[in-house]
Amino acid sequence: MLQALVISTRSTCNRLSVGAIVVRDRRIIAGGYNGSVSGDDHCLDQGCYLVDGHCVRTIHAEMNAVLQCAKFGEATDGAEIYVTDFPCLQCTKMLLQAGITKITYLRNYHNDPYAQKLLDLKHVAVQQVTVDPQLLTQLPFDQPKAER
Ligand SMILES: [Zn+2]
Ligand SMILES: [Zn+2]
Repeated sequence: MLQALVISTRSTCNRLSVGAIVVRDRRIIAGGYNGSVSGDDHCLDQGCYLVDGHCVRTIHAEMNAVLQCAKFGEATDGAEIYVTDFPCLQCTKMLLQAGITKITYLRNYHNDPYAQKLLDLKHVAVQQVTVDPQLLTQLPFDQPKAER
């Protein structure tokens, strides 16, 4: 989950920073954050592209992570995903159809009751976890170069 948080800092939308990490057989196979189509403007630079109060410019983190698997040929069947925010309905449907079997998330975010119903139907394990901010203080930002 800490990896998902770190990649969420790459988000290019001002409204929300979301990160997702796909894991299969205990191995990270993809990561994603919410951002625009490659080559298009970033919300950070041009402002959000709002339609009915929603930013429609960005591809959600979960979708970017699964699309990375599609693009580079990594199977998602039986994989699990770590995502910083509870997936929206569209992403939930996409994750189910991609064969994701477990969703681990950090923050509740407009949890959709129909998404929850589908997750129950497909027996997908959904678990909310916490991250100890102390972990960040243990990262070796100022580690001296090791002697060889
Ligand atoms: Zn935006
Ligand atoms: Zn979504």
